[in-house]
Amino acid sequence: MILKQTDAFYRGQNYLRLVQGFALEPGMVDLFDKERDGIAICTWIGKNINSVNATINTYLEACHQCFHPQERPHIQIFAVPIAQSFGIDGLCNILTNPITILVDVGRVAPKDWFGIVVHEYAHAHVGDYGHNQQFANILSHLCLGLGLEPPYWETGMEQTLRSWPYCQSTIDPLEFWIGKGSGKVGHGGGSAVLGSPQVEQLPSWGIGHG
Ligand SMILES: [Zn+2]
Repeated sequence: MILKQTDAFYRGQNYLRLVQGFALEPGMVDLFDKERDGIAICTWIGKNINSVNATINTYLEACHQCFHPQERPHIQIFAVPIAQSFGIDGLCNILTNPITILVDVGRVAPKDWFGIVVHEYAHAHVGDYGHNQQFANILSHLCLGLGLEPPYWETGMEQTLRSWPYCQSTIDPLEFWIGKGSGKVGHGGGSAVLGSPQVEQLPSWGIGHG
């Protein structure tokens, strides 16, 4: 039986293959036999990915504006479904040139896409995957410039930084990628508190940004 695929499907498939080449390992972008709804997802991506990428590119640009031009790393950014088994909503591959940021925009509500870009940008700027003091300093600089709650480094806060800024996870990440994203969010760590000056205690984080 020959499945009749649309142009949008093939565009989506080509896009996923392209982005797969920028992942830390190919299995991170692997819809082709592991995830459900592969055909629907490819087709949706073929039709809609340009506008999603345009949005996250504006967030990338906002991060750049926090630094002098000569301090801005060369970065390319793509929205893509990241294999669920990795449990991350974004990643930064510092080994590619330019540096690559991938964001699984299905895993968090659209209002939180910005937070993921900011987190991964901090990795790109430091040039390191760690959530150490240097990372905290850069992330804090970005958060202050962008109106997000900044982290202040203290020993032992690596685990907290892994999920900073706080982003609320969606219940079903793949729903977004087939065009059925309801924006429904799970009960991750309580109410979103970022940007609020009255924060007394930050919620405990769930899954991290990578
Ligand atoms: Zn991270």
